Amino acid sequence: MKPFILVTGGTGYIGSHTVIQLQQKEYPVVILDNLSNSSPVVLDRIASITGNRPAFVEGDIRDRDLVRQLFRDYAVSDVIHFAGLKAVGEGEAEPLRYYDNNVSGSLALFQEMEAAGVFSIIFSSSATVYGNPGYSRFTEETPLNPVNVYGDTKKMVEDILRAAKRAQPVWQVALLRYFNPVGAHVSGMIGEDPAGIPNNLMPFITQVAVGKREKLSVFGNDWPTPDGTGRRDYIHVEDLASAHLAALNKLQGGESFLTVNVGTGRPYSVLEMVAAFEKASGKTIPYQFAARRAGDIAECYADPALAKTLLGWQAQHDVNRMCADSWRWQKNNPVGYE
Ligand code: NAD
Ligand code: UDP
Repeated sequence: MKPFILVTGGTGYIGSHTVIQLQQKEYPVVILDNLSNSSPVVLDRIASITGNRPAFVEGDIRDRDLVRQLFRDYAVSDVIHFAGLKAVGEGEAEPLRYYDNNVSGSLALFQEMEAAGVFSIIFSSSATVYGNPGYSRFTEETPLNPVNVYGDTKKMVEDILRAAKRAQPVWQVALLRYFNPVGAHVSGMIGEDPAGIPNNLMPFITQVAVGKREKLSVFGNDWPTPDGTGRRDYIHVEDLASAHLAALNKLQGGESFLTVNVGTGRPYSVLEMVAAFEKASGKTIPYQFAARRAGDIAECYADPALAKTLLGWQAQHDVNRMCADSWRWQKNNPVGYE
């Protein structure tokens, strides 16, 4: 039997889509997740989509005994590390919890990997590591200068992996810097299910469409962008998932270290996203302009060239598909996984 891919955070939004693609490529998967931001129902949905239920260990990446036992129970070749907390505002309010979960948690995981002789890791980094450099198109050479706690945790974990690789060349590391994931599996069975009021644009729009929220607040209409609203590089979660398979393929082929942006290279404004969603769903999205959100930047998008050169990967799904799939998921699951 092929060795397992350990997917931390595998019941979460991006992890679950990646697990499906791994299983569809015949990789045996074991998920480690503490369910702090996900539901075990995801496992049933993955099983019905792929015909195969992934192995699941409920627990925390910081629980060293548990992680050690996991490496004894499962022959793992590679780790895809999604587990982490991701809300920017929450990180500002609870920095110690964020550094503990994201940085101490990752460090504990890496030390247990080392003890188990597992040295191949794909890490979920983020475009937030770049902060606000004063221009919009980010290459992998854009200096790392995070402006919030969440972004800082991502940079710190990147730093840890760069140092580990320098000291021990046996490590194989892929740092994937995601832009703005949206969309859902085409089946409408798995998707993004944020707890409470969504922080991010797309889940807020879909919750307005389904009648859960009254109207969208558009944070700022005086940004230096063509229509005055913020522009981001939205990427379909299925494309993001497939970037992990491309990175895994590279690492298994002997690649030793890579850092790539994962985006489309094409930014859309808030109003363009609203219009695209209305077209895809046939729903009207009422909105009002509100003050700029603290910490926001006008615009950012990926230079995706390196991902194409290094991984042979580029995004396939356009904004219409992103909106159609987000809507199908929300319409079929008006209260998420509950
Ligand atoms: P998510 O919250 O849906 O998934 C994360 C999963 O990790 C959840 O299932 C949660 O229960 C689990 N988890 C959290 N802390 C854990 C711990 N200590 N031990 C075990 N499990 C734990 O988030 P997502 O959107 O799927 O994001 C996955 C990764 O990608 C995160 O690291 C996130 O920071 C990163 N990322 C996300 C975005 C985005 O916009 N969604 C953008 C850039 C980077
Ligand atoms: N945004 C908005 N209303 C919302 C949520 C987000 O106008 O309720 C805007 C936000 O200001 C930004 C864009 O939508 O310009 C994307 O925000 P999101 O939080 O999804 O991603 P991030 O800011 O982390 O890139």
